[in-house]
Amino acid sequence: MADHLRTECKTDQVSTGRYAPSPTGDLHVGNLRTAILAWLFARHAGSPLLLRIDDLDPATSSTEHEERQLADLAELGIGFDGETLRQSEQSGHYEQTIAALEASGATYPCFCSRREIREAASAPHGHLPHGAYPGTCRDLSSAARADRSRERPAALRVRADAQDLTFVDDVHGERTVQVDDFVIRRNDGVPAYNLASVVDDAHQEIGQVVRGDDLLEGTARQIWLREVLGLAPVRHAHVPLMVNAEGNRLAKRDGAVTWAELRDNGHAIDELRAELAASVGQSADAAADSMETLLKVFDPAAIPTTPTPWLGLDRPASS
Ligand code: GLU
Repeated sequence: MADHLRTECKTDQVSTGRYAPSPTGDLHVGNLRTAILAWLFARHAGSPLLLRIDDLDPATSSTEHEERQLADLAELGIGFDGETLRQSEQSGHYEQTIAALEASGATYPCFCSRREIREAASAPHGHLPHGAYPGTCRDLSSAARADRSRERPAALRVRADAQDLTFVDDVHGERTVQVDDFVIRRNDGVPAYNLASVVDDAHQEIGQVVRGDDLLEGTARQIWLREVLGLAPVRHAHVPLMVNAEGNRLAKRDGAVTWAELRDNGHAIDELRAELAASVGQSADAAADSMETLLKVFDPAAIPTTPTPWLGLDRPASS
């Protein structure tokens, strides 16, 4: 079905890793920590780490942000192997995959507005998880589709039939998640993240995906898509998010949360690396030395499964 994509594992690179930043601003300490862990997982397996730039949204992405992100990662000691994949250059692959899914009957157009989805999704729908798309447009007649398409452009959804999917995450262990009819192309024509990520991971021949665990539940959708497309399975390691002292997403008001801000406050990169490593159960002393020294004592089993608070660097480092 998808002959531009890999359909079987190459035995020599089963754990090829990747880091996939969105170039929409400076990386914050949580993003930097995810990059450290992606590098450690790949190197621990003796595998390459590839870079993917998630620049599908031209309104928020810029090469200036990308350059600043790569400079921060380089200061930490994180470099990448092979060619960089830019999502903005992959539209041919995405469209080919979407066309194959459409031809197989696995998709349907959805005309729901955000408000309609919110209202429909908050009503009880048997066993679908809260917020899942309840399938409002799944069985529209062709006449209804023609009518609605005069009102607004359609997004494209897959027919996942609320299938239960069980997978094993290398950090969180076994999870069972129900897959809803998720979007693969937005109604502005832009391929959706889940579709793009699956296509790119196959194209880059990724063996292990390491990313923030805000994407853990959504991973079931990607696994579903991979199975439908006949692609080789990948392993996943979803690592904890860094949150503020109140347990919410890090934001500007939480003080110095980027390397540029910490550097301006007089901190050294080794200090930051040590703090980030310690916050996910790794040796601060080894991390203070270098990524290579940290790799020697990397212990994936010590990574916590709960979010960790960022308390800044203006205090003695934990160990
Ligand atoms: N670009 C996404 C982010 O910055 C990561 C997506 C992924 O790793 O699949 O959160």
